[in-house]
Amino acid sequence: MNEVIRKMAESLRAGATMLSDNCPVCNSPLFRLKSKTYCVKCDSSSALTPAPVFSPLASSQVNDLKVMVPRITSTVLNRLKKLEVEVDKTPDPVRLAQLSELMLTLLKILEVLERLGKS
Ligand SMILES: [Zn+2]
Repeated sequence: MNEVIRKMAESLRAGATMLSDNCPVCNSPLFRLKSKTYCVKCDSSSALTPAPVFSPLASSQVNDLKVMVPRITSTVLNRLKKLEVEVDKTPDPVRLAQLSELMLTLLKILEVLERLGKS
């Protein structure tokens, strides 16, 4: 097998993600593991400046977020109430599984929103 492809597979197995950016040296796709960006072909991780994972939010964006959080929270809560009624009524186990999945997702969103609201 091609050495580069083997290394790519290894990187992916190690939990790395393939980036949409290409290596400036050899043009093969770059990988990122934790915060390290590297090229599997030339191993030139030291030569590359890692792209910032999260650019810090501008204060205006933070304010937007603060306004949005209560709104999204009430939307999610409304959906959850409707979902709860449906979960209670549905006799179909497949549908029930889907609804539960959705409920779980909404609950996770609420958890994130709560954290955002506090920050
Ligand atoms: Zn390269």
